Amino acid sequence: MKSQLSALSVNGNGHQNGNGHHHSNLKVVTKEQESYDPYFEGLVEQMLRRVGEDPERDGLKRTPLRVAKAMDFLTSGYDTSVEEILNNAIFEDDGEELVIVKDIEFYSLCEHHMLPFFGKAHVGYLPNGKIIGLSKVARLVDLFSRRLQVQERLTNQIADAMMEILEARGVGVVLEGSHFCMMMRGVQKQNSSTVTTATRGILKDDPQARAEFMKLVRS
Ligand code: ZN
Repeated sequence: MKSQLSALSVNGNGHQNGNGHHHSNLKVVTKEQESYDPYFEGLVEQMLRRVGEDPERDGLKRTPLRVAKAMDFLTSGYDTSVEEILNNAIFEDDGEELVIVKDIEFYSLCEHHMLPFFGKAHVGYLPNGKIIGLSKVARLVDLFSRRLQVQERLTNQIADAMMEILEARGVGVVLEGSHFCMMMRGVQKQNSSTVTTATRGILKDDPQARAEFMKLVRS
């Protein structure tokens, strides 16, 4: 989803930064400013027409641009690596107790409808000489959330990444998610939430360790 005009630097308001253009030909400058990802914006414009809208009306003029930027951000997980997030954030530590980071907000898009699903992630691990900064666990959740996902795979990817990075003795991940594709259409179960679990190592194999993890997550 990288912009095809990556040389064009655009800030949050869609204004181009320091492009060195003179304002004698304001029209041309404006046109450049409005462009972020022309191909993607064209697709959004077609979508607007297809649902019966007029992309030229005032409220929608900048919508293709906004959608292109928003989708770029919401799928930025494809362009980010685990290594990038972790650089120098893993520390040696001889603690052996279970570490749990609870209530990490996540926002993702379901791959079946490209509608949001969101909720809370709880991530725990049994260290094996290495620990990770708590904020990095949240960044890891973001990394895998900002892609088209199904909740089960998202849960597993977080667990596998934690296991690999930390060479932990065990990892447990629980996600509670609400899905717009269920809430807004079809069944319309506004209050339903989907819980998915992924466990690895001791937290998978040892029923007692697993039970302790699940109890702490629920408390
Ligand atoms: Zn869906």
